Amino acid sequence: MEILVVGAGASGLMAAVAAARAGAKVTVLEKERTPGRKLCVTGNGKCNMTNSYMGLEMLKTHCPDYVRGVLEQFSQTDAIGFFSQLGIYTKNRDGWIYPNSGQASQVLAVLLAEASHCGVRLHCQTPVTHIWKEDGRFYAQTPGWAYAGDACVLACGSKAAPQTGADGSGYGLAQSLGHRILPVAPVLTGLHVREKGFRRLAGIRCDGRLSAWSDGEILASAQGELQFTSYGISGIPAFQVSHEAITAFQAEKEVLLSADLSPDYPQKALEPYLRSRIERCPYKRAEDFLAGLFHEKLCRELLLCAGIAGRTPVTDLSQEELGRLAGCIKGFSGHMCGFQDFGHAQACMGGVDLESLIPYTMESAVVPGLYFAGELTDVDGACGGYNLQWAWSSGYVAGTSAAGRSPDKGSAAYTGTKEAGAGAGEKGEEESHGHALSD
Ligand SMILES: Cc1cc2nc3c(=O)[nH]c(=O)nc-3n(C[C@H](O)[C@H](O)[C@H](O)COP(=O)(O)OP(=O)(O)OC[C@H]3O[C@@H](n4cnc5c(N)ncnc54)[C@H](O)[C@@H]3O)c2cc1C
Repeated sequence: MEILVVGAGASGLMAAVAAARAGAKVTVLEKERTPGRKLCVTGNGKCNMTNSYMGLEMLKTHCPDYVRGVLEQFSQTDAIGFFSQLGIYTKNRDGWIYPNSGQASQVLAVLLAEASHCGVRLHCQTPVTHIWKEDGRFYAQTPGWAYAGDACVLACGSKAAPQTGADGSGYGLAQSLGHRILPVAPVLTGLHVREKGFRRLAGIRCDGRLSAWSDGEILASAQGELQFTSYGISGIPAFQVSHEAITAFQAEKEVLLSADLSPDYPQKALEPYLRSRIERCPYKRAEDFLAGLFHEKLCRELLLCAGIAGRTPVTDLSQEELGRLAGCIKGFSGHMCGFQDFGHAQACMGGVDLESLIPYTMESAVVPGLYFAGELTDVDGACGGYNLQWAWSSGYVAGTSAAGRSPDKGSAAYTGTKEAGAGAGEKGEEESHGHALSD
C-alpha cells in the first residue's frame, strides 16, 4: 500500500507514522522548507499537547458524533502513551498536558525521528497544487512532478496563522475533489469592542470571567486572565468564547461581551463589601477607594461606568450608586464589533464537512481512498490542547484506515509520475526537496 500524505504538520506526521507502522509505504509532501512550523509555536512554544478532560463540548463541529467516534479510537490517554513511548515525558498543569521539557520543538523532533525510523519519506518545499484520481490511483501535482499513491491523506491545516505557512490551499484541494467546505472563519482570536471604555484599558490584564451574550442569553463564558487591548479584549477567556461570539456576530446578531471582574464574589456580597471599604477609610475620594482592588485605570473606568467619577467625598455615595458600581464590576460590558483576522487566530472554524466522510475512518464518502486529518476538517477545539488532540486522533485514524484498505483495482497509466515511497529518482533529493527522512 502506497500512501501520499499532503502536509507535514501535527496531523500529517501522525497519519504518516500510523500508516507506516501499519505497513504502508508513506510519502509526505510539505510545501514549506521545514515541517511542523505551526506545531513549534503551539502553547507559546511549550506545546499544550492535549488535555486530561476530553468532553465533547470542547470541540466545536457540526458532527459531534463523528468527532466522538474518532476520539474513541485514539484518545488523550493514547496520545500521552504514544508520545511517552517516543520519549516525551509529560506534565499536567490543571489538566492541560505539556511536554516536561516545555519545548514544542521536541514534540516535532520525536515525530520526525519516528517517521524516519518507520521509513516515511518527507519531501519539503513540495507544494501540492492539484490532486486527482485516475484508474484507482491518486496523483498529487507539485512543481516538480506528480506523485502517485494508492491512497491519499489531506492534512493541509487551515488558514490560521499564515506566518507559519498556513495558506488554506487544502480547502481548494478538498473542494476540487467534490467536498463541501463549511464556512471558514478565524477562532481563538481577540474580539473587537465598540465602546471606548474597553479600549482605554489597553495593556491591562486582570482576572475575570468573560461572557458573550446575545438575545438575552449567555452563548459562552470562560474565566481566566483578561487582556484589554487597543481593539477590545483578548486572552484565554476571549479565545474560549470566540467560537460562539464570532458565529453569532457573523449571523448579524448583536453580541454583548461582559466581563465579571469579581467572579468569586456574588453581587449581593460585593455591595456590603464596598460599603465596608468606605467605612474603614471615609476620608478617601471616590477615585481612590477602589485602589488595591483593581488597576488604577480600571478603577477610573468602573467609576465612569457607574456614573460616579469625580464624586467626593466617598461617604456621599448612596446605596443605589454603590449598587451601580457593584453592577459595573460584575458586568463591565461592551458590544462586539469585529474580531481579529486569521493572522492573529490560533485556529479556524469550519472546513471539510465531516458528513461527507465515512464513519469513523476519516475516509471520504465521495472519493474512496481519500482521507482527511486535522484542522482542515470542520473541527475547532477550545484552548487547552484540544486542537492538537484532534490532529493526533484524526491523523492516527486516517493513517491506520488508509494503510488498512485494499488498493483500488486499476492501472497507474499516468506518465511523468513518481511512486509514493519510491527512491529519489531522477532529481537529487537534498537539492530538490530539502528533507529526505529515509531512503
Ligand atoms: C500560535 C498558535 C498556538 C497554538 N497553540 C496550541 C496549543 O498549545 N495546543 C493546541 O492543541 N493547539 C494549538 N494551536 C492549534 C494547533 O497548532 C493546530 O490546530 C494544529 O497544529 C493543526 O494541525 P494540522 O496538522 O491540521 O495543521 P498544520 O499544523 O497547520 O499542518 C499543515 C501542514 O500542511 C502544509 N500544507 C498546507 N497546504 C499544503 C499544500 N498544498 N501542499 C503541501 N503542504 C501543504 C502546511 O505547510 C503545514 O505544514 C495553536 C495554533 C497557533 C497558531
